[in-house]
Amino acid sequence: MKVPLLDISAQLAPLREEIVSAVSNVIDSTRYIQGPEVTGLEEEVARYCNVAHAIGVSSGTDALLVSLMALDIGPGDRVLTTPYSFFATMGVILRVGARPVFADIDPLSYNIDPASMEALLAADTEHTIKAILPVHLYGQCADMTPIMKLADTYGLPVIEDAAQAIGAEYPLDSGADWQRSGSIGLAGCFSFFPSKNLGGIGDGGMVVSNDRSFAEKVCMLRNHGANPKYYHAAIGGNFRLDPIQATVLRLKLRYLEDWHGQRRENAQFYNTLFAKTGLLQDNCVRVPAAVYKDVCTATDCSNNYHIYNQYVISVPDRDELLKYLQKNDIGCEIYYPLALHKQECLRGLMDIPFLPNAEEAARSTLALPIYPELTEAMQEYVVQQIAAFFAK
Ligand SMILES: *Cc1c(COP(=O)(O)O)cnc(C)c1O
Repeated sequence: MKVPLLDISAQLAPLREEIVSAVSNVIDSTRYIQGPEVTGLEEEVARYCNVAHAIGVSSGTDALLVSLMALDIGPGDRVLTTPYSFFATMGVILRVGARPVFADIDPLSYNIDPASMEALLAADTEHTIKAILPVHLYGQCADMTPIMKLADTYGLPVIEDAAQAIGAEYPLDSGADWQRSGSIGLAGCFSFFPSKNLGGIGDGGMVVSNDRSFAEKVCMLRNHGANPKYYHAAIGGNFRLDPIQATVLRLKLRYLEDWHGQRRENAQFYNTLFAKTGLLQDNCVRVPAAVYKDVCTATDCSNNYHIYNQYVISVPDRDELLKYLQKNDIGCEIYYPLALHKQECLRGLMDIPFLPNAEEAARSTLALPIYPELTEAMQEYVVQQIAAFFAK
């Protein structure tokens, strides 16, 4: 059996006609920059995330970049973030001329560890840390209650890198209302890269915020800082969202909750299958977990609405298992094999910290196929093959 890591054509097939017709409409409209499809998507994403403002941008990376630009973060400033994420999280900090400060991660959720953040903030006596940039890795919110408490104590804005987590939810205080990712900090940044839960037919992104003046600044900066047209009080860039992407995303947004639900069911089914193999009990395989103190402690965590952009297991002999699964036609991938603080582009720029949890994650994590259209038979095959590997 062949099991790809992701099968975009399975999602495309039932929607193809609608997508082609929506794209044709944009072509015929001749509104190729901004226009009603972009504003329509912005309104729908704002409603979906329960925020006041949403600004379509060219990618998830540019959503992060323009957010840092809107905060005037630059040379001499530092941004507190996680060392275990896609490169863009750190790339945007460096591109505005600032430096990252890395807290270590929680070893079970792989998200930034608030205790480690607290130590770094307390040591920042010169107040060079100007913002906090947590990532909701794999589709599960970082532990936002203590993060927002730290942000409040130190008077820092929080920009959520929610590129993998549109629609993920977090109960901000125990018992209080749930909040969607991106709506908790000053701003949230989404990516519509095709492999994300809401993926376009190319690049796209979105910044969401409840802060009106921040949203206005992002809006201005995405269009060269112009306000009004041809008058530039600030230096921005061309970070606009393409209406062809917007029209496709509007269409797909209607299915997003169903797709999240299917991914969550698939995750539960993996958990059940792994439990039956005995691999969990033998500590060969660790399945995704949420261990936030105020939230929950169970593996099957209904309080923290994980949207499973990735289903990531932790295993010993990870590289050997990867080869074995690939040999048996199972798509899998390492997110990420080298932690951000170990990247070569940082050498000479700053002191490189030792972050044992991030480094261990880079050695042991493996993402398995989790896309909505995955069948039970495919999942059974994946778990059988993993069991066969450890039985060797
Ligand atoms: C995908 C991703 C990004 C970047 O989004 P693009 O749309 O590819 O620019 C940023 N951060 C994280 C955590 C991501 O997964």
